[in-house]
Amino acid sequence: MEAAIIAIGSELLGTSRLDTNSLLLTRCLEKYGVAVVKKSVVGDHVESIAVELEHTLPSCDLVLMTGGVGPTEDDVTKEAVARALGLVLVLDQGVLDHIAALFERRGLRMPEVNRKQAEIFAGQRVIMNLRGTAPGFHLEVALAAKRRHVWIFPGVPFELEGMIEGHLEAWLKEVTEQSIYRRTVKITGMTESAVDERLAPFYALHSGDPITILAHRGEIHLHLRARGIADDAYTRLTAMETELRDIFAERIFGLDEDLLEAVVGRLLASAGETVATAESCTGGLLASRITDVSGSSAYFLGGVVAYSREAKRALLDVDHDATEAHGEVSDEVALQMANGARQRFSSTYGIGITGIAGPTGGTATKPVGTVHIAVGAAEVSEQKRFLLAGSRELVKHYATQLALDMLRRVIVRGRRGEARG
Ligand code: AMP
Ligand code: MG
Repeated sequence: MEAAIIAIGSELLGTSRLDTNSLLLTRCLEKYGVAVVKKSVVGDHVESIAVELEHTLPSCDLVLMTGGVGPTEDDVTKEAVARALGLVLVLDQGVLDHIAALFERRGLRMPEVNRKQAEIFAGQRVIMNLRGTAPGFHLEVALAAKRRHVWIFPGVPFELEGMIEGHLEAWLKEVTEQSIYRRTVKITGMTESAVDERLAPFYALHSGDPITILAHRGEIHLHLRARGIADDAYTRLTAMETELRDIFAERIFGLDEDLLEAVVGRLLASAGETVATAESCTGGLLASRITDVSGSSAYFLGGVVAYSREAKRALLDVDHDATEAHGEVSDEVALQMANGARQRFSSTYGIGITGIAGPTGGTATKPVGTVHIAVGAAEVSEQKRFLLAGSRELVKHYATQLALDMLRRVIVRGRRGEARG
């Protein structure tokens, strides 16, 4: 079954209001394996709505429309649909009583314009609105010897939701047996093209179930989709995830809603370990991201923003010789910062970041985007130099991303070593 969604409302064509109803509808359709093949937004004009429906219906079994069923002059959806499908609108006493009762309950007089909302399509199914005045409709029409379904819902998102839960879902369940399952596999520390390259064998095997790659602020998200009979589709989805884990191993840091900082937090908390930070070019952003996670006080002990050479020396014990010999932006200084933080805060791990966020301050040997990151622990330490591209804000963000990922991998590798030993 294929569906189209038509969102009606002139306000949706402007810049002030976004069509969110189609997202609610799409989420419901996907649950039952119904693909949305077309989505449109039309203003409150009888002719435009009628033409849109006439154009859409031949290619879709199911058309879902929202909006334009209010009591005011500009609500013309029903009129347009009646014209397009050759249906007749009649006043329904039952619906009118329901609307009148709603006004009465609130101690209000029903305005005359609301009578319009009691008009229904003769011979078609009415969906009562338990959350408002405008009823919805489920119309069945024959077109080119095929049965088509047109649903009309109120534009108010809360009312639409009520009808989705109360009526559309049950109907979809009945007419479909399919489901779409989704999972997002999240990778960091690799470029989009490198990920794509390694996916070649995976693509070859799974031409039926699509995978979409999206790059987002230092992360690559692989969106997996499996469509079919419930159990079968779910099994395929899980199998795809397993294959991706074989390909990318520890480059995968999480799934779905997982955030890198939360994943790192869980690793620390589960082992009763702690971390402290020493930041120069990121100005505290790393500490900020770590503390965005609720419960981070269990593992984050504190951080130092040491921007000046003097601060690095006074607060983190970075020695004079190191800064003189290698410069403030160097592996040596990053490592001393990491260990300085670790010792000052008595944490399991320390992270040091020093770099040039730009756009000014670069040199021939240390261009803008040069960032040195170190992770220090009692037995291991790791330091790396990166050359990052982008705005000052992005360089800072990428630096914290790489720092979190370095810590994550140090922990994961340490655990694996322990498990083996
Ligand atoms: P209507 O049924 O056209 O009178 O719309 C009632 C309210 O719902 C108005 O505030 C609209 O802006 C809002 N609305 C209508 N269509 C949508 C939509 N597709 N997404 C979000 N809000 C909508
Ligand atoms: Mg409207």
